[in-house]
Amino acid sequence: MAGVCDPPGATPLTKYWRLECEAGRMMWSCRTVLFALLLAIGVFGAASARAQAGVVGATLSTCVARIAPGDSPRTMFARPDRFDCTTPQTAYARGDYWVLSGPLPAATDGSRPIRVRQASVWQDRLAVYALAADGRITGVANDQVGISRHVRLGAVVEHRFAPSTAPIVRLLWRIDGASNLRGIVVGPRIASDVDSIRSDLLFAAFYAAFIGLVGGLLIYNLALWNVLRHDFQLAYCGVLGCLLFYALSSSGALAWMLPSVENNRRILLNYVVLCWGMSAALTFCAHFFETRILEGWPQRLIAVTSWTFGVLGVLFMAVGAFAITPLDRLYSLVMFASPAIVLAVLWRAWQRQSRFLWLFLISWISPFAMLAVRSSYNLGLVPWSFWIDNSTLVAMAIETLVASMAIAHRILMLSRERDEAVRQEAISRELADTDPLTGLLNRRAFLARAIPADGPRTLMLFDIDHFKQVNDTIGHDGGDEVLRLFARTLRYYALPGVLVARMGGEEFALLGEEGAMPDPELMLASVRAERLPFDLRITSSIGICHGPLADENDWKRLYRLADQALFQAKTAGRDRAGRAPSAIAA
Ligand code: GH3
Ligand code: MG
Ligand code: MG
Repeated sequence: MAGVCDPPGATPLTKYWRLECEAGRMMWSCRTVLFALLLAIGVFGAASARAQAGVVGATLSTCVARIAPGDSPRTMFARPDRFDCTTPQTAYARGDYWVLSGPLPAATDGSRPIRVRQASVWQDRLAVYALAADGRITGVANDQVGISRHVRLGAVVEHRFAPSTAPIVRLLWRIDGASNLRGIVVGPRIASDVDSIRSDLLFAAFYAAFIGLVGGLLIYNLALWNVLRHDFQLAYCGVLGCLLFYALSSSGALAWMLPSVENNRRILLNYVVLCWGMSAALTFCAHFFETRILEGWPQRLIAVTSWTFGVLGVLFMAVGAFAITPLDRLYSLVMFASPAIVLAVLWRAWQRQSRFLWLFLISWISPFAMLAVRSSYNLGLVPWSFWIDNSTLVAMAIETLVASMAIAHRILMLSRERDEAVRQEAISRELADTDPLTGLLNRRAFLARAIPADGPRTLMLFDIDHFKQVNDTIGHDGGDEVLRLFARTLRYYALPGVLVARMGGEEFALLGEEGAMPDPELMLASVRAERLPFDLRITSSIGICHGPLADENDWKRLYRLADQALFQAKTAGRDRAGRAPSAIAA
């Protein structure tokens, strides 16, 4: 079945036409991605407006106390004076802590269950206790797997308390082995059942959209890489693969899929895929621009940072469980340095006028801005916000779509360059094969096509009679015109499959199967009747021979016999055809 890009007819530019058409389709797919992007921005815009409700519930203030021997939830609820409510949590070292909430806002319906939510962070054990107005204390103590089982979408750890007799008035957390990288109890809130379910649904839709988008793009880019084999495509697939895993693990969806995975291991996986994702992103950056752009120090700087991220990922896997604090510091520092490196690369790309700079800028500006904010937060320069974690995915979703457009555009440019090269090559091959004066095959191209032949062939050698006189009469240019007209006559009589060549000077050849060869008398008559400049008349002589043409030796014999027949035609008075005995019999 004919495709959209199949040519309407066979012309010398058929191939070029088809490639141009493919390029047009690529441009069309760019437009499609642009449309999808606009749609996605709309959807994400709406989602983020609603996701304000995703950060569900009322924020709680907290106070901190170190755990001392003999402490119990009851003693701690009874001694609010032991808690420090002024020092920021991040000022505390690694260790074991009690964290007490301020009094809960008075609920309209004290018998409603409440959900206690806080961000999932690196810690060994987590217990949450609720104090009811009548003095009853209920609580849940979790080990690593227990924490995993309380993870909700958005990587929020949630505990549900259903008051039996009196409303809950205060909450208390006991954290053992708090690494305190970002705080001891981060972003604590209380929410209703409905809030929590709505938040899960919203995040499920958001992450499903993200994972679907990135998964689709991954398959699309892998298929494209399979065809075009550019390094930057593979690096980009690496970025997408890491993003997929990051979305799964950072969302908490992984905790739902594998509830027996320890929560700290899930957090480690976040680090690992982010490190490897950054490594792939930097490799992409190094290969995306033209080679001349990043030569020298930018190339080396990117390579070193990319390797650092790669090794850091391995370190997280190998020793992350014991050395999370120093590794996290190192990770934050390299992350913090990355935007600076990218800025340097952009500067170089601007200086050297890369054609791809604007594409790169549009697609990567939002994730790198995010990266800068995240790193600042990791280094304690800005306070924690739920949005710092979750807008990473929105930024990356936008980046993924725009980068796909950028890649499609880059591929469009590459395919245009390749098409032009193919066209030039076809033109030069044609020039190398043809005789410039007559447009017929030259001797070399004729022989290349003639030998070997899978059966006997007939060779007709033509030589214009007294051509020197033609030149003498009408000049060399007039002689050239006669040669062109003679060539046209030969071409006219040659059926498809018959080779027509100028062998040199005023000597021409036709070669084909016996049945396809023209009648020599008809050709002689046609040459005789040809209207030439100054009413000149010419005649020609023909030497014909039939025989096998399997190799070079066959050709030599065939040509020698045809030439002898031609010579006999000349000596017999010219304007006639001489036929050699078949070379098969010879
Ligand atoms: P004969 O009938 O024996 O073939 O006589 P002839 O004059 O055709 O033979 P000869 O081989 O002596 O002369 C061939 C001439 O063809 C000599 C040369 O100047 C002329 N010639 C060869 N190539 C070209 C060309 O490209 N253009 C022109 N105008 N003349 C050419
Ligand atoms: Mg000659
Ligand atoms: Mg001649």
